[in-house]
Amino acid sequence: MATIPEQYESQRVGVQGYRVLNLDLDGVCADYKGAIRDYLQRQGIDVPERALQTAHYNLIREDGWPFDTLDDYIETHKAAEREHLYATMQPLPGVAQALQRLAGEHVYIRIVTHRLFVSGQHQMVVSDTAQWLDSNHIPYMSLCFTGLKDSMQATIHIDDSPANIETLREAGQHVVVFDQPYNSAYDGPRINSWSDVNVNKLLTLFEHWPE
Ligand SMILES: [Mg+2]
Repeated sequence: MATIPEQYESQRVGVQGYRVLNLDLDGVCADYKGAIRDYLQRQGIDVPERALQTAHYNLIREDGWPFDTLDDYIETHKAAEREHLYATMQPLPGVAQALQRLAGEHVYIRIVTHRLFVSGQHQMVVSDTAQWLDSNHIPYMSLCFTGLKDSMQATIHIDDSPANIETLREAGQHVVVFDQPYNSAYDGPRINSWSDVNVNKLLTLFEHWPE
């Protein structure tokens, strides 16, 4: 059994874990909206740059995006998946270095993503996600595909989705908000990038969560 250092005893999660980070991918580590925009541009559908700064989390009836209905959006999402969106999307700047540093500080990184929200292409989604994580040198110990994020306890969660932030906080979990235009109304703690300063901030939060 792993020995949990005394100073992290209060952060014990499960039997062997401590300093567990549940880490969302899209909008936190990976530029999902940029990748959907790139896909649409390849289809000859112009999406203006300003459309990336969406006021709402989802893209339906959102300024600059061509989705009138949920079905329109799902159709485009699935087509982009088939073109290996999840293997090829851009990482957010500095994410690999930041996570390598956290892993070096004994943070147990558990990727938790809702990418299986559309059925029919799960093999591709799982495989492309693992490929993307490897090719971008992102360290992690677990890879979990679930939308039920409050079913997975952690010392700290990092997420951008308003629904996840609310659900996790209602469950008494500690959430660091990853800054996006659609979550600016939520209280912090928050980080706005994967800078060294923000890694320091995360390490401080692992030590002591502000009450
Ligand atoms: Mg997200």
